[in-house]
Amino acid sequence: MEDLIAKAADLLARARNAIALTGAGISTESGIPDFRSPGGLWERVDPAEFSIDRFLQNPGRFWRIHLDMKRSGDFDLASAKPNPAHFALARMEELEILKCVITQNVDNLHQRAGSTEVVEFHGNLLRAACMKCRSLEPIEDVEERLLQGTEETPRCKKCGGVVKPDAVFFGEAIPSKAMAVSQVQTQRCDVLLVVGSSLQVFPAAQIPITAKMKSPAAKVVEINRDPSALHREVTDILLLGSAGEILQRLLRAVEDRIADRML
Ligand code: NAD
Repeated sequence: MEDLIAKAADLLARARNAIALTGAGISTESGIPDFRSPGGLWERVDPAEFSIDRFLQNPGRFWRIHLDMKRSGDFDLASAKPNPAHFALARMEELEILKCVITQNVDNLHQRAGSTEVVEFHGNLLRAACMKCRSLEPIEDVEERLLQGTEETPRCKKCGGVVKPDAVFFGEAIPSKAMAVSQVQTQRCDVLLVVGSSLQVFPAAQIPITAKMKSPAAKVVEINRDPSALHREVTDILLLGSAGEILQRLLRAVEDRIADRML
């Protein structure tokens, strides 16, 4: 492992356009379950509940499930705190190593750890958006209205439209700005760090494929508990284990190389 971390640190310290793609696995050490690992959310909730068709059929039903998940502590994003993996990526941005983090997560933890260049590929579950006029409001305001029992299906205070979490549901398009920025960053990148993603959800999983297809291909460093679905096709350096522990070790190795350059 030490050798592989040293190789990855060499790549990052020399990179001109390193970026990261993160998934649910980077936040499991903050107490938020991922989807597909043992004990993950799909063992408790039917993934179809997160489809836009099901939501539109009965928004009130979705919001009841949302409150149940929050109450049970199964998916309480507001109480979660960033972990050493989020902080390591924020520090890499501060060191001008990482240009941005493209995250599939909807938990706001990269921003709370101090990353400023964050592309929310799947939106943000701490916000709610009106489906008609796109007005945004904190999701806790919607939750409060539901808990008070004043509304069964939350409605926009401005236009009366149906309110939905501002996260991308199955069957919905990726927000156009997030898609455009990630395409530009992927085309430019020379090192791509993939952290905590099974790379089974498209189009996010297309990012490492695109990075490897361009010329010259970017080097892909993957940090995961279990190898991703695409590791044979895209991964140059595979670091298996805890994202928090490995990213902190990688950060220290990168900092050592930067310090050596200054001598
Ligand atoms: P996934 O559940 O499909 O895969 C998670 C990956 O992370 C697995 O490969 C697993 O081995 C790895 N992993 C788990 N814990 C880890 C740890 N501590 N250290 C290193 N690796 C770890 O997740 P995905 O690929 O992101 O796809 C799931 C979708 O679900 C995403 O689109 C995301 O939007 C959404 N989601 C988000 C959150 C969140 O915002 N925190 C949580 C669950 C799901």
